[in-house]
Amino acid sequence: MAASLDPFLARTRIAYLSMEMALHPGIHTYSGGLGVLAGDTARSAADLELPMVFVTLASREGYLRQEIGQDGRQVDHADPWEPADWASPLDAAVAIRIEGHSVWIRAWLRVLTCPLGHRVPVLLLDTQLEVNAPEDRGITDRLYGGDEVLRLRQEAVLGIGGERMLRALGFEIETYHLNEGHAALLPLSLLRRHRLASDRPAEGPLRYDPDPVRERCIFTTHTPVEAGQDRFPYGLVERILGDFFETDQLRLLAGEEALNMTRLALSLSGWVNGVATRHAETTRRMFPGYRINAVTNGVHVPTWAHPAFARLFQEIAPNWAHEPEGLARADRLPDTAVLAAKAEARAELLAEAHRRTPEAAAALRPDLPLIVFARRMTGYKRPDLLFSDLGRLREIAERSPFQVLVAGKAHPRDDVGKELIRTLQDHAHQLGGAVPVAFLPGYDMALARLMVAGADVWLNTPLPPMEASGTSGMKAALNGGLNLSVLDGWWVEAWEEGVTGWAVGRDGEAPGDHAGHLYEQLEQAVLPLLHGEPARRAWMMKQAISRIGAHFNSQCMMRRYAAEAYLR
Ligand SMILES: *Cc1c(COP(=O)(O)O)cnc(C)c1O
Repeated sequence: MAASLDPFLARTRIAYLSMEMALHPGIHTYSGGLGVLAGDTARSAADLELPMVFVTLASREGYLRQEIGQDGRQVDHADPWEPADWASPLDAAVAIRIEGHSVWIRAWLRVLTCPLGHRVPVLLLDTQLEVNAPEDRGITDRLYGGDEVLRLRQEAVLGIGGERMLRALGFEIETYHLNEGHAALLPLSLLRRHRLASDRPAEGPLRYDPDPVRERCIFTTHTPVEAGQDRFPYGLVERILGDFFETDQLRLLAGEEALNMTRLALSLSGWVNGVATRHAETTRRMFPGYRINAVTNGVHVPTWAHPAFARLFQEIAPNWAHEPEGLARADRLPDTAVLAAKAEARAELLAEAHRRTPEAAAALRPDLPLIVFARRMTGYKRPDLLFSDLGRLREIAERSPFQVLVAGKAHPRDDVGKELIRTLQDHAHQLGGAVPVAFLPGYDMALARLMVAGADVWLNTPLPPMEASGTSGMKAALNGGLNLSVLDGWWVEAWEEGVTGWAVGRDGEAPGDHAGHLYEQLEQAVLPLLHGEPARRAWMMKQAISRIGAHFNSQCMMRRYAAEAYLR
């Protein structure tokens, strides 16, 4: 596959770096929400012809191919893909020093083209090269694989290697946008060039001038809890990076006890944001003294709209894919057309469920309301909340029948998440035919497209304030799906009770009451709507499309980044 950087070099001014990026279902360089957001960002940057280049790791072994064993446990596999099938090799090579020797990096080029023909380049950094020592070749192979040693080496490739690669290829970058703290070694690379002259008395203990670096760096943080942030002991940093940066100086920027990548990015970025209003508030409490803006995430509408809904959008707003604001007119759509589009998408999803897990899917029915829970399987997302009282669930279903599809991967080292996957399937067995429940293995971009389109209700029950934003509920809403969600992340902004969806629990209330309120909502609001008047149901579906689809999209999000952060 031949492709050239020539058309991009002169105009590109902004580089966006992300450890993961969901470019295409066949390119396994992502694990979940962070990568899908980066991919949607790139797609909208192409739509809007923003002068951007995107940088991520080649992740040849992917993140995780999930298999569910006979006993209901997740079995982890590598998920390889072949860069040569999807991208073109570029000539430049750069080296960084890791543990005292050179590690060479090359890049693959993948060009994203939007429907109007605008394009942005994406660079995939790769250490799988003959010149590298055998133990270094695999650094970029497995996304979020291995231990903290590998993680720091990967982050050195992304941050230090990424900056060098952009220069080697001839880009003249003015602004760097760091998507999460993984790329925080990039501003540190820049800072090395701003050492204060030794005869000049330093104003503080820092012997560098961070201002020129801050002018060029933008940081989007995604982690609302300390435990989620990358931290590396300084002993490890010295072992891996050698004398790249003096440890006493690094402590001033990245934390006294350990190198905290979020803190480093905060210290060296002149514009910082959280990914929802609520998340920015949480971040301000975690890091007092920094100015934290809020830019709520959005999704790329043409990527996530089911073809049946896309056809409807075409009728009310011919330019919808480029300007999703036009979806505000969705309230004009005929009820029958909206209900028929949902029925088509739901049938497709159920057919996929039968393909993936024929036994569990046998009880699913095309005419029953379908509740979907698809998330990374981990403790704080509480995938088991819906199943906390099986007797109550049976009673509710007896009066108003419904069915449930569940999907999600657990990180290979997340034992709690893995155990949740097993217990969910136990619950499904215990419920038997009373409430058909099926777990679909292998949640990825392709399965997500089917699930967000086919869901009647998109369920989300994280433990606040752990959900930074969440984006899958936005994808569901575009397709007429109704969110039933804890008030956290983006949902605080989009929630209008009984109009765009429903809340689980009251804002600020003890999370222990969430299960009871979830059952109440199902019994009194959600299922009566789905079993009631079709016109009432269609009205709410159209409200979800017009009020959420028109606003929570990556086009709006990128216009905000461009106006508020890039043009600052
Ligand atoms: C959209 C998406 C996500 C992010 O969804 P959340 O709302 O953050 O759970 C994760 N994984 C895949 C495959 C997605 O498409």
